[in-house]
Amino acid sequence: MSRFMAYMTPICKLNSDEFKSLYVKREDMIPYSFGGNKARKAFLFFEDIDKGDYDYVVTYGSSHSNHCRVVANMAAERGMKCVIIGPQEVSDSTYNSRMMELFGAEIITVPVNDVSATIDSKMQELTDYGHKPYFIMGGGHGNIGTQAYVECYDEIIEFEKENKIHFDYIFFASGTGTTQAGLVCGQLIHGDDRKIIGISIARKNPRGRDVVIDSIRDYLNGEYSEGEIQDKTIFLDDYTGDGYGVDSTEIQGTIEKSLVMYGMPLDSTYTGKAFLGMEKYIRQNSIADKNILFIHTGGTPLFFDELNKMRR
Ligand SMILES: *Cc1c(COP(=O)(O)O)cnc(C)c1O
Repeated sequence: MSRFMAYMTPICKLNSDEFKSLYVKREDMIPYSFGGNKARKAFLFFEDIDKGDYDYVVTYGSSHSNHCRVVANMAAERGMKCVIIGPQEVSDSTYNSRMMELFGAEIITVPVNDVSATIDSKMQELTDYGHKPYFIMGGGHGNIGTQAYVECYDEIIEFEKENKIHFDYIFFASGTGTTQAGLVCGQLIHGDDRKIIGISIARKNPRGRDVVIDSIRDYLNGEYSEGEIQDKTIFLDDYTGDGYGVDSTEIQGTIEKSLVMYGMPLDSTYTGKAFLGMEKYIRQNSIADKNILFIHTGGTPLFFDELNKMRR
């Protein structure tokens, strides 16, 4: 168990006139480095790191990356060196990148097409110099990241039992798909029935959904049938807008409304886009009479980047 798992993130009902039974699981309130799904995943990665004698952690992501911020924080806490390889194309200064700098991470930016080769050469260089680097895939992708969201699913089940409620739908922002893979694995393990709907923030189908399915297969290792996996994996690419990190006035409106009505910060890359997508989906499919859970996957520093752009 990771250290923070002594806590359970809160699930709160939103006071919405339109959606009568809409709840939010506040992963943004995980009590470490502004929380979020990347904190939940990173706790498990660092549990693995702490078992070895690693002196470097290497990962990749843009200057907007919540994952890179959390990993840089956990590395700094341990006095470990952290190397972040990021794409030049998304390297503007943000609150996340400023924190990465504050944590002393070495940030290497290269054209996006060179990221993969740069990771390989950096890992080789560190090993050649006698270091022991640990590599974490971008976004905390991989079975350890998936495990983090199987545990989150367990928390949802526990909440349902305690509060005698059943969520018919679970919505959230889906990026690398690890969060979704963990939730679907949790559902298969528990054998319960509901719709788990990942709202894509960038990727299109079929690739976006295929990546989720690959992660699920990898984690479950042949224990469940292909049909079950296919059946449970719902990845919607209707609400990606103009792509990763691209803002719109509609998303800004959603962010402003959420802050005013629910006191809840959202961001334009992930949670704001997913929340808006969920609202549209609920309306289009007339499912407002069901119990709905939105997972707030974090990204609070991105909310403040957004706030700097907002004008009254
Ligand atoms: C990374 C991220 C996501 C997407 O999670 P994946 O596991 O990569 O699909 C969603 N929301 C926020 C705030 C994130 O930082």
